[in-house]
Amino acid sequence: MTTVKILAIAGAGRSGSTLLDKILGQEENIVSVGELDHVWDAGFRKNLLCSCHTPFKHCRFWNDVFDEAFGGMHNVNADEIMRLKLSVDRAIFTPSIAIPWLRTPKYSRELNIYVDILSKLYNAVHKISNTRIILDSSKSPSYLHALRLAKNTELNIIHLVRDSRAVAYSWQRKKLITQSQEKEDYMPTQNTAQSSLQWSVRNVLTYSLKSFSPSYQLVRYEDFVKEPKTILANIMTNLNIDNCKFSCLTDQSLNRTEVHAILGNPIRFEKGPICIRADMEWKEKLETREKFVSTALTLPLLFAYGYLQE
Ligand SMILES: [Zn+2]
Repeated sequence: MTTVKILAIAGAGRSGSTLLDKILGQEENIVSVGELDHVWDAGFRKNLLCSCHTPFKHCRFWNDVFDEAFGGMHNVNADEIMRLKLSVDRAIFTPSIAIPWLRTPKYSRELNIYVDILSKLYNAVHKISNTRIILDSSKSPSYLHALRLAKNTELNIIHLVRDSRAVAYSWQRKKLITQSQEKEDYMPTQNTAQSSLQWSVRNVLTYSLKSFSPSYQLVRYEDFVKEPKTILANIMTNLNIDNCKFSCLTDQSLNRTEVHAILGNPIRFEKGPICIRADMEWKEKLETREKFVSTALTLPLLFAYGYLQE
């Protein structure tokens, strides 16, 4: 049986993962599934739009995947899986997922059931897409620690980092999204203290995936938008794939073909060329007090990632 190769974009939210996902997802060797950890809520409960512009439950691709994995969408008890997810897959449980002797017998039983569901899901995506690499932008370290336990899979990590002040600014902005048929909705917001603390915790926990993964690469968003072809080539070299041409990248723009990604930034719905450029609006518009709070709460990692030396 062929090992299912997963390439996961990991790290804090609002770090530019949708843009990276969108570009990598254009390659013929790669199938992008978006933030698949949200499929139970965003897909089954809310029936939000797949990035192919079809409501999730009517998307042909996802129907084929769930037919293969579970004998059909009607056999999936999303409420039960959400309950299971809450009891095993949260940031606070990351040590228990990573280190077996920290698990209680009850936790082990529930984690095994959860991992078995992920095994079926990702093996089905591999079979239906008939593509070499599954690109997943779930980002959550606890989810990815659980996913690396899935049968017949190999989890490779891109740790995507963006300046915490830029992330704080992004969390403050009210962005309209259109992901359901019935109503327009907004992306969630957070204040600077919340987003900065979350940024630190997420990045530390993401680093913990390094020793468990066959390949781990730290990518700074700011470097990626400056030299996308170099960064993409490095990512592929790390995966031992040397035939990617990234022909969608011409003069730092890309052309979009149909993918079936779950959730993500609204840019996933956009078609046609997209200009890749550094979004540095936060430098002008984030208030000085907010910059101070974010810098103070994320100082050690800002130094480690080289943001304070620039
Ligand atoms: Zn779709």
